[in-house]
Amino acid sequence: MGTIEKGLQGVKSRIASAAREHRRDPREIVLVAVSKAHGQARVREAYGLGQRDFGESYVQEALPKMDALADLRATWHFIGPIQSNKTRGIAERFDWVHSLDRVRIAERLSAQRPDALAALNVLVQVNTSGEASKSGCAPEEASAIAQAVAPLPRLRLRGLMTVPEPTPERAVLRARFRLLREVAERIREGGIPLDTLSMGMSDDFEEAIACGSTLVRVGTAIFGAREQ
Ligand SMILES: *Cc1c(COP(=O)(O)O)cnc(C)c1O
Repeated sequence: MGTIEKGLQGVKSRIASAAREHRRDPREIVLVAVSKAHGQARVREAYGLGQRDFGESYVQEALPKMDALADLRATWHFIGPIQSNKTRGIAERFDWVHSLDRVRIAERLSAQRPDALAALNVLVQVNTSGEASKSGCAPEEASAIAQAVAPLPRLRLRGLMTVPEPTPERAVLRARFRLLREVAERIREGGIPLDTLSMGMSDDFEEAIACGSTLVRVGTAIFGAREQ
């Protein structure tokens, strides 16, 4: 068995046991394989093993890779920081964006999303770690951003995403993930239906699944360590 096959199987069985432990159906948890810093051949190998969802963080790195893989029916998730001069590539090529944290960027993506494509699925990134992390909006801002994003044409607001600060403290990670779930509940109570909580990476997806994650973004545990 190759290393990517072992990685994928290992991650899927960890997802399944975490789901079982918390009385959840593992089929309701989407696995996004984060392929940043890995070449197209490794993505192709994962695809050949049945993996369909892939995550990328840098537009310049992602677009040539996606061109080389244009024959695959993969679903592409943009998970990195969004610079306003890079929104066109995201709007034209990706299926999902996880890292929306400003209405201005949502407006650009909405205007630039081609009519011929399905609506772009978007998640609002929330900073659940306070001072300890920079990306994402404050939890108190998330509702207002969601209210502004939901009506934009060519976008479909699906939920929220978070990346907690790296910490070995399992209780801290759980507190961050629980906060994201609570913010999503408040937004739902305000009348916006959300079906996705993007939370959990290689080192913490079990905690995220315990707290209600419906989508985990996993790189290292599938593809091995990144170079940079
Ligand atoms: C790189 C990255 C991941 C994957 O992290 P691993 O620890 O390699 O699983 C997940 N989410 C985001 C936003 C990332 O930038």
